Amino acid sequence: MRKDLTTAEQHKLDNLFEDIKHHSENFLGYPVSKDFNYDALHRFLKYPLNNIGDPFMPSTWKVDTREMEREVIEFMADLLNAPKNNWWGYVTNGGSEGNMYGLYLARELFPKGMVYFSQGTHYSVNKNLRILNMQRVVIKSQHNGEIDYYDLKETIARNRHMPPIIFANIGTTMTEAKDDIKKIKEIMEDLAIDEYYIHADSALSGMIAPFLKPKPNFDFADGADSISISGHKFLGSPIPSGVVIAKKNNIDRISKSIAYIGSNDTTIPGSRNGFSPLVWWYAIKTLGKEGLQKRVDDSLKKAEYTLSRFIESGIDAWRNTNSITVVLPAPEQDVIEKWQLATEKGTTHLILMPNTPYETIDRILDDVIPSIKKKMQENVELEMVL
Ligand SMILES: *Cc1c(COP(=O)(O)O)cnc(C)c1O
Repeated sequence: MRKDLTTAEQHKLDNLFEDIKHHSENFLGYPVSKDFNYDALHRFLKYPLNNIGDPFMPSTWKVDTREMEREVIEFMADLLNAPKNNWWGYVTNGGSEGNMYGLYLARELFPKGMVYFSQGTHYSVNKNLRILNMQRVVIKSQHNGEIDYYDLKETIARNRHMPPIIFANIGTTMTEAKDDIKKIKEIMEDLAIDEYYIHADSALSGMIAPFLKPKPNFDFADGADSISISGHKFLGSPIPSGVVIAKKNNIDRISKSIAYIGSNDTTIPGSRNGFSPLVWWYAIKTLGKEGLQKRVDDSLKKAEYTLSRFIESGIDAWRNTNSITVVLPAPEQDVIEKWQLATEKGTTHLILMPNTPYETIDRILDDVIPSIKKKMQENVELEMVL
């Protein structure tokens, strides 16, 4: 027996809904798409979906969406130029889980490996490495946020006795910088190292980079061994999700058959979200490659517009080539709070996710630009006093 909510409880729930609606309409500071509608999937919430086990193995448990999950993985493997008949993957709970999966695979292949990643790497990676007990070295970043290849090469050369595991960023959190996996491979060739692993953290850019011309060097064809992407970022999802794709021959070394579920325990979680694969499947089917391309083009156009507004106002903003992130000096604290602007060391960014209305962009810029100019003016005056 369940009882009705009290009036106070009902109010609380309604207020929360209004708050979420308001906050979701007023941000450009986080890489989260909002242009989705998954109403067609609501009926599935009536069932205890669970994609337990390996998506590609039969399972005793049948209240699942693994058929759709397999289609999603197949689509993504193709999009990311995975080697024919040698790919595997699953729908994760987010980019961090996929990153952990890539690092876990790398560690199983090279237990004595050394992990290299740049300063601009997502904060979750250090935690993942602590959990996995892997040795690591942080490599310098260039000004734009891309890894410093010279520092990478020098550092690997000093540790040649340990197989390198490169954690590459395909879109850093702050500046959306992309490490060049072809260049990283060239470093390995120059150093005559043939045992190494490259994981591509493509949380945001994994759904963008395949549609850019020229295509950035980030996928399996360029030398990645595994790729992790978030679903709630560029694709758009009401709950955090992601996809990880890896080479199947590497997975085969770590999978164990489990009698209780009648499947292989190849994934990090036991029970797995069965709703997220539906979200991915529905998005992929309704958008198709053309729709995904259009969303990328739309974002790029709006990033260009946003950057031009800052430049016109004499503000020192910039963006990486073909990126949807505009990097700028931080405005005043109340403006940061008001528009939920992720800010670090005096720098903030705006991320032009697909189909953001120009009206929203202008509303935010009309507030952010004067605030930055005011701070610039105050700095000039301060310098004059000194
Ligand atoms: C967002 C992000 C992550 C983490 O992904 P989640 O989906 O939030 O777990 C990892 N790396 C980068 C570069 C990111 O932008």
